[in-house]
Amino acid sequence: MRIDVLTLFPAMFDGVFQSSILGKARDKGLVELNTVNFRDYANNKHNTVDDYPYGGGGGMVLKPEPMFACVEDVLGKCGSDEVKPRVILMCPQGEPYSQRKAEELSKEQQLIFICGHYEGYDERIREHLVTDELSIGDYVLTGGELPAMVIIDSVVRLLPGVLGNETSAVTDSFSTGLLEYPHYTRPAKFRDWEVPEVLISGHHANITDWRRKQSLYRTWRKRPELLETIELTKQDRKWLAEFEQQSR
Ligand code: SAM
Repeated sequence: MRIDVLTLFPAMFDGVFQSSILGKARDKGLVELNTVNFRDYANNKHNTVDDYPYGGGGGMVLKPEPMFACVEDVLGKCGSDEVKPRVILMCPQGEPYSQRKAEELSKEQQLIFICGHYEGYDERIREHLVTDELSIGDYVLTGGELPAMVIIDSVVRLLPGVLGNETSAVTDSFSTGLLEYPHYTRPAKFRDWEVPEVLISGHHANITDWRRKQSLYRTWRKRPELLETIELTKQDRKWLAEFEQQSR
């Protein structure tokens, strides 16, 4: 996968792209991560990329010319007839980001992220340049860099070969539709708190059952709306009825 991030603050990505799992994925050649400063595409004397809003009011608006020129240049360098990269606008008004969207994006060959700043974008960028608008939550940040990092991290960790077996994404919260079950490690007893016996029993079927029940319990308690979106087995329904009964 190739990812290009259009930003006025490329240095913000240095640590994130070089460290931990993202850094390793890049070193192994599993993903190419580039930042492009779209100020370099400003076609005026002072390299301005923003201007006052038509109609008045506070805040500055990102101009269309540098953004179109920058995206078109990136596409010209690496786009092809077969690969139509997704051009993703970071925007608090966008589609709420989710694990499902991360899974969808992880199947693409190329992604381009646009990080906004100031009051917002000239509407023609939204209408004629981008394929997706994504929000990481119902709150407003100063710029699109942190949202882009969040999305890139969650997409790259799903690429084949990026996570080793020891950190598989398969059982992660939301991947299964449920929240993940609790984890324990050595020692078996810490202070007065013991690890649930089933986990040290070595009985794999019982461990699988226990984990499923715990996942269901956590989801039922913390995020019950998620239960509406998954297919429940007969056993799941029995456990859910048990939780309901115990809570009365
Ligand atoms: N005036 C805009 C509005 O009310 O929708 C908010 C602009 S915000 C100060 C500046 C930039 O930060 C946005 O253009 C976007 O790129 C980014 N941003 C802020 N909050 C975001 C969020 N929750 N999700 C994604 N991007 C966000």
